[in-house]
Amino acid sequence: MPYKNPETHREYQRLWRKNNPDRYQKQQQQWHEDHPDYYQQWYKNNPDYATVHNFELRLTVLQHYSKSDIPSCNCCGENTLEFLCLDHINNDGNRQRMIHGIGTRMYLWIIKNEYPTDFQVLCHNCNMAKGLYGQCPHKLGSKLEYRADGKQPCM
Ligand SMILES: [Zn+2]
Ligand SMILES: [Zn+2]
Repeated sequence: MPYKNPETHREYQRLWRKNNPDRYQKQQQQWHEDHPDYYQQWYKNNPDYATVHNFELRLTVLQHYSKSDIPSCNCCGENTLEFLCLDHINNDGNRQRMIHGIGTRMYLWIIKNEYPTDFQVLCHNCNMAKGLYGQCPHKLGSKLEYRADGKQPCM
């Protein structure tokens, strides 16, 4: 019989579990006895599920922002996938991460929002430098010029 309100149904189940802890525990035990290898089997059938899924998701998003099949850093051209990340152009990466989460969740959010234009692909070097100094040293002519700026590269 379908329940009119799923909330009420959940609440009913919750109360039932609370009032019948022994029967609930037995039910759980029974389920595990009936499905002894459920989780092992699932992982066996989907060995790289998370890894493969994340990799493809990440590649798709990086390809989009690089406008190329081979994603590369928008600053220095680095194209080793492991070194690349997404950068929020307006430099509020922390806020962005807080809202959308990191990793898979952020990539999913980007796709769902039809690729907002304020992201770019950077390598971790350029991204870190931009975060620390406001601008990647690649963008400044030389290291001397950079130091003349009063900002020292060593922390
Ligand atoms: Zn770079
Ligand atoms: Zn750079």
